[in-house]
Parts: sequence; C-alpha cells; structure tokens
Amino acid sequence: MPVRPLIAGNWKMHGLAAQLAEIEAISAFVQVRRPAADVLICVPATLISRAASIAGGRIAVGGEDCHAQASGAFTGDCSADMLKDAGATTVIVGHSERREYHGETDAMVAAKAGAARRSGVAAIICIGETQAQREAGNTLAACGRQIAGSLPADVAQSGSIAIAYEPLWAIGSGHVPVPAQIIEVHRHIRECLMDIAGASGADIRILYGGSVRSDNVQSILSLANVDGVLIGGASLLAADFDAVLRTLPVMVQEPSRADPPRSPR
Ligand code: PEP
Repeated sequence: MPVRPLIAGNWKMHGLAAQLAEIEAISAFVQVRRPAADVLICVPATLISRAASIAGGRIAVGGEDCHAQASGAFTGDCSADMLKDAGATTVIVGHSERREYHGETDAMVAAKAGAARRSGVAAIICIGETQAQREAGNTLAACGRQIAGSLPADVAQSGSIAIAYEPLWAIGSGHVPVPAQIIEVHRHIRECLMDIAGASGADIRILYGGSVRSDNVQSILSLANVDGVLIGGASLLAADFDAVLRTLPVMVQEPSRADPPRSPR
C-alpha cells in the first residue's frame, strides 16, 4: 500500500493570473512545513505553465482534463502531451462535472487515462454515485461499473493511476459520507482494482473527494484504503489548503551526509 497520502486540489474553472499568488503561498508553506504527503494542485490549462514555474517542484501541478488523442483537429482541446509540455505531472480524468456537462462516458474516460499514461502523465480517474443511486442501494454496483469501464486496458502496467471516489452528492455540498460509507466504498474499489489489476491493484491510490476541509481531512485520511484526498473549494485559497496540510504529520528530517555520526554516550 502507498504510504504517503496524495493531497490534491482541483481549481475547476477558477483562477486568473492574480490567483497564482496562491500557488506561491502553498508552495512556500510546503517547503517550510514539509508535510508527509505528495501535494498537487490541478489548475485550468491556461495556468499550468506559470503555476509549474512558480511551484518550482515544491508542489506538483496538474491539469483537469485531456483529450484521448496526442494531437489532431480537435479545436479547443488539450492533449496529455501538451499538459506535460506545460509542466503538468498529473491530469484529472472523468470528473463528474465532465461526465455530466460534456457527456463523457466510461469508455471516453478510459481512453483519456490511456492517453495520459502514454504521455507519462499520471491520471486521477474520478468515479462516484449519484444521490439517486445511493438511495436505491446501487452505490457499489455503480462505482464498480465505472471502475471497470474507466480504467485503461493495461492498468496493471501503469503505475501512475489513482482513483478518486467522489460521491456526487458530496461535491461542493458540505455533506460528507459517514466513515462507514467511505470505508465500504473504498474497500469495494480496492477489491475491483485487485480483480482487474491483480496484486498491483494494492498499490493504486484511492482518494476520497467531496467537501474535504481542514476539520474533516484527518479523520477521512485515517480510514482504511483512503490514500489521499481530492479537494475542490478548499484548494482555491492558500489559507484553506494550508490549513488542510497543517493537519498532516511532518516529514522527519533526514540527516545530511555532512552531519557527523553521533558518538555513543
Ligand atoms: C471536486 O470538485 O472534485 C471536489 C471534491 O469539490 P469540493 O471539495 O468543493 O467538494
């Protein structure tokens, strides 16, 4: 199982040049605080290049969608190669807003995740049930179907995939599933991943997303099979995102080679 959680932000269609100050502030905080986590902010394509240069490797920068083809006559789209060229390490694919407003199917999401893998860009594949599916008792079936359909064909070989479980009713609503609900779905996702990818399914991070804030992140991260979080609203301002990061343990400083060995007392 991965040991370091991934704390990922999703700015959605928010952010002009002025908001790059938030990237600088988050990067500076991470550099000083050294939270024991991988930190990523996914920003609109227009900001990736500048955000990556401001972050300077202190945090990772990602995109929010990519096309399934590497290039071509697809006006207005961005390929994974382009995101990588701009400085993105990761791309979110299949976010529920893309599925809902752009009609993205599981097959389209799988093709995008495959394109990301071919470009050397990690993919965060989003899945999650609607309120109606939960009320009808179809949560696990809906999530299982989405996983089976949205993973790229060669998932066992692609070490750079994460799943984000985002119940649609929890996104931006302030409503978070109770721990038992998160545990149940994440366990099911893990089982699906191991069915599909074999033993390497144990190494795929499963993130939780939906109204994560500084006051609930610790308890969410403590749950079984929760390997990180995907955060929308609370990633837009450094004050909010840093408050999330502040709840994490910090990295133990490695002794530098220049440090003399300690003599026994
Ligand atoms: C999201 O958009 O992926 C998300 C989880 O949003 P929020 O944290 O605002 O619920």
